[in-house]
Amino acid sequence: MTITDKNKVRAVLFDMDGVLFDSMPNHVKAWRGAVAEHGLSMTREEVYMNEGRTGAGTIHTLAQRCWGRNATEEEIEAIYQTKCALFNTCPEALPMPGASEVLRKVLDRELLPVLVTGSGQRSLLDRLNQAYPHVFRPELMVTAFDVRQGKPYPKPYLKGLAKAGALLHKDGSPLLPEEAVVVENAPLGIQAGKAAGIYTIAVNTGPLADQVLTDAGADRVYPSMQALAENLPL
Ligand code: CA
Repeated sequence: MTITDKNKVRAVLFDMDGVLFDSMPNHVKAWRGAVAEHGLSMTREEVYMNEGRTGAGTIHTLAQRCWGRNATEEEIEAIYQTKCALFNTCPEALPMPGASEVLRKVLDRELLPVLVTGSGQRSLLDRLNQAYPHVFRPELMVTAFDVRQGKPYPKPYLKGLAKAGALLHKDGSPLLPEEAVVVENAPLGIQAGKAAGIYTIAVNTGPLADQVLTDAGADRVYPSMQALAENLPL
């Protein structure tokens, strides 16, 4: 698929972890350490395959594989608490190389950057503003607090279209899917972008094969945010 009419595009919807911040290595360390403490195992690839899923959903998947049953509420709570505690001991993730160049080009082309993340970290806004000053407006951020059904469901990206439309359209109607582009790194995020009907660019910043991202529905795959900055198809 190509972008049918790039002159129609008004907004670029950015995922955060693995796209704007190089935070996935911290998630890998925290997930693998936490599940090992509770008698489960998880490969690095599995962390990337589950990226975007809720903590409980991820833990059920592992429990099914390792124990042949779902995890109990208590197990989920204990494992997820350990995961968060380990994550908080990790060094703060750095901005993803190439991301500020992508954002600069998006702004130069008078496109609206919108954040669409499943993360609910309270410090999110501060970190974004520090790393990318004056890029993301608070009214153009979709976080864990905005939607109940996260990725791979289309809701987060549909909410992104709604927030961009509220700002750009006089009548406040949502942007149409063809008026936006999604930038994602994870299979479940790509599925969410495609389920919302939006052209979805994948940047392969992790260990998965490009084919995994293509199979998830990505319209184009770039090896890095630098590569996307150099070849932005907008
Ligand atoms: Ca991501």
